[in-house]
Amino acid sequence: MKHLILGLALLATPCLADTCEPTISTAAIPAEHPFFRTAPLPEWSKMTPQQLLVDTRAALEEAKAQRRRILQVTPETATFENTFLAAARANVEQRQVQGYMMHLMNVASTPELMHAQNAMQAELAKFQAESGEESAIGKLLEEVSKAPWVQELSPARKRFVQQTLERQQKNGAKLTPEKRKRLAEINQEVRKLSLQFHKNLGAPPPAWELEVTDPAMLAGMPEHWMKRAAELAKKRGIATDEKPAWLIIPGNAQAVLTHCEVEATRRQCWLATSTHLQENEPLIYRTMELRHECARLLGFNTFADMQASERMTGSGQKALDFVDGMLNALKPLYDAETAAYLARLSKAKGEPITRLNPWDEAYLSHRAPAPATAGFNFSKITPYLEAERVLRGMMQLWEQMLAIRICEQPTVHLSPGTPHPVDKVEVWHESVRFYTVHDTKTGRHLGSFYLDLYPREGKRGDGWTTPLRFGHDGEPHLAAIVANITPPGTPHLLNHGDMYVLFHEFGHLMHMLLGHPELSEYHAMSVEKDFIEMPSQLQEQWIWEPEALATFAVHHKTGEPLPAELARELYENRYQSSVSATMRMLRHAKLDLEINLHFHEKFKGRPLDEVAAELLEPWQLPYSAPTPSDMRSVHHTMNPGYAASFYTYIWSEAMSMDAFSRFKAEGILNPTTGAAYRKCILEPGGSKPALELFRDFMGREPDSKAFIQRFNP
Ligand SMILES: [Zn+2]
Repeated sequence: MKHLILGLALLATPCLADTCEPTISTAAIPAEHPFFRTAPLPEWSKMTPQQLLVDTRAALEEAKAQRRRILQVTPETATFENTFLAAARANVEQRQVQGYMMHLMNVASTPELMHAQNAMQAELAKFQAESGEESAIGKLLEEVSKAPWVQELSPARKRFVQQTLERQQKNGAKLTPEKRKRLAEINQEVRKLSLQFHKNLGAPPPAWELEVTDPAMLAGMPEHWMKRAAELAKKRGIATDEKPAWLIIPGNAQAVLTHCEVEATRRQCWLATSTHLQENEPLIYRTMELRHECARLLGFNTFADMQASERMTGSGQKALDFVDGMLNALKPLYDAETAAYLARLSKAKGEPITRLNPWDEAYLSHRAPAPATAGFNFSKITPYLEAERVLRGMMQLWEQMLAIRICEQPTVHLSPGTPHPVDKVEVWHESVRFYTVHDTKTGRHLGSFYLDLYPREGKRGDGWTTPLRFGHDGEPHLAAIVANITPPGTPHLLNHGDMYVLFHEFGHLMHMLLGHPELSEYHAMSVEKDFIEMPSQLQEQWIWEPEALATFAVHHKTGEPLPAELARELYENRYQSSVSATMRMLRHAKLDLEINLHFHEKFKGRPLDEVAAELLEPWQLPYSAPTPSDMRSVHHTMNPGYAASFYTYIWSEAMSMDAFSRFKAEGILNPTTGAAYRKCILEPGGSKPALELFRDFMGREPDSKAFIQRFNP
């Protein structure tokens, strides 16, 4: 796909740096297929639901033609470009259509678009079922990979060849027809199980009720609760004014666990609630068996190893070693926190607790609430976070650190069929803004991005950064930050959480736009999955730093800079999460790895909760009975992208905190360190293993010390 730049029209643009030049014009080019032939920028008003289907079909035709072209190549005429690269780019149009469609579904969903999306999925499924060329291409690539010239390729290209072959193998390319058939059956069954699992998650809690006829069993319950529970019993026809009863159901059970003074009632109630989602357990177990079989078919020892083969850890055991190491490192701190907690509960109970009954926990901790900690009132800094200043301040900070220039461009929102003004960039909603990013030294156009920051109808909640197009062979990239931060008001002030979203997403954005590896396939999203969050988690660190805040945080009314005392207080409260919260994540990560590594040895034939209690015993509260495992309720368990990967949240955080320690040592506004970050981490994308990128930047192996240190300031 050729990206055309018609940078001729002079634009009068508001600008962040003082040397912005006109760079982008969207002078209309007849775009036959707006969903994939977008030159130079997407024309959103032409991307109608009707057009989606037309473009999907055209893109699939294009993919077929490209595959045919590849199959005409012989080992004698083969080059890297007409085989490996051509195969990777064979369905670039179709991926582009899907990318824009997904983006529109997220930012401007309509029933018509959803309908068109379903029709498009059907077309794709049909295409996949019919296309027989894939295995022929696989065979060709396998053969070509043995040619002597492959050994002469650059390291990035050689890595690409190797990864392509590995991926093919993972898709079953080397299997016998019988085994391939079995693989397809496994995948289909796993998909079905996952669907059922998620259906169960969405279903209302199972109907159960406990009928209580003796009010003494409900001692301690608030009057209004008793009244409603009595009405409920009457409604059900199991009580009258003369013969009263009280009904406990899933909807009012938590109050019983918190307030009821009678242990027997709490226990009964807890037993009933803790059976929630039991029906997901057999689904998980069956999935584990199938995953294991699938991994074995494809030449891996376990499913965890198969997942880790595309992660920094490289093997399931290494990932587990990391988690175990973290659990052990945090254990002394966690033990201290647990001892204090149990002492508090013991005081409430009037006797020392060595084994905590899970049905007592809510009750006891309600009676002995944690002492109020001073904490930090984040609203105190809101008056210093005027939206426009924060945005500009953040961009200027990264302009200086990364030697780039960010310029805003005028935009226009068009309805379908309206002519496109030549001097404006089209956006999908009038509130969306558009920026270009250039290299300060060379002037090169690195990429452009949209900012869509505020909530509105038809837009998904949450915040994310989406790569809309990775430019090939040095063309600029295109991405969008989509968020739901505090909408404009008078004055337009942001809160600290909004600032976190902006800085985090800007980290993703810089990774996407500043990556210009030798092969564009090695863009930001191609790095190992446990490294993708590294730049975003790194860049979010600046929101706590007084030196960074001093560059843009001034009082919206008085213009007074953020007082040093307030900045210091904020900094000291930067890590609010307790060891217990991190422990909870680590426990889940451990269980997730254990079950995907050792299902047959440790889990099969035994209840999940029992095994979990055994495995996690040293790192959790000493409960008197196994508590329900959250494996049954977390979608990661059954999601093929996240399974055996929960640890990556902590992994990438540890990695980013480690990298941040270099900025702390050299200066958080030090452009030399910023340049090294750009060169070692952002620019290469995924062209090298992430561990090498990290080593290039830090000059050493990763270390979890900085992460652990946060709990011990
Ligand atoms: Zn992120």
